[in-house]
Amino acid sequence: MTAGGEDQHLAVLLLLIWTHGPLAREDLARHLPTWPADVMAARLGRLVALQLISVCTQGAPTLYGPDLNCSDVAARQVYARLSGACACRHCGCTDEWGCPDGCWWVAEDVCSSCQGAPLTA
Ligand SMILES: [Zn+2]
Ligand SMILES: [Zn+2]
Repeated sequence: MTAGGEDQHLAVLLLLIWTHGPLAREDLARHLPTWPADVMAARLGRLVALQLISVCTQGAPTLYGPDLNCSDVAARQVYARLSGACACRHCGCTDEWGCPDGCWWVAEDVCSSCQGAPLTA
């Protein structure tokens, strides 16, 4: 494991927001109860600055969700880099964050979606 601790935390937050978002700060705090509010704010700020998540301030509460300009492939690739997880070399999916329709490993770094293999029993 070579990824830094802070990168790991950003990876967790990114995955949470992309798989469960949009989420309010309160929801995020419930998922990540050990994070102080200022740490949460700083990490959210970093993901926003990286254009991975978007902030919706219309209405209350403020919601954090996937950035619509960012493809899920790009987000998965960032997640893989931050978390240090083994990822598909094409689409960046990992054990924690697979393709939307589900996938499995056909090689060490290729998932079934990217192989284009037909579904067989
Ligand atoms: Zn793939
Ligand atoms: Zn996949």
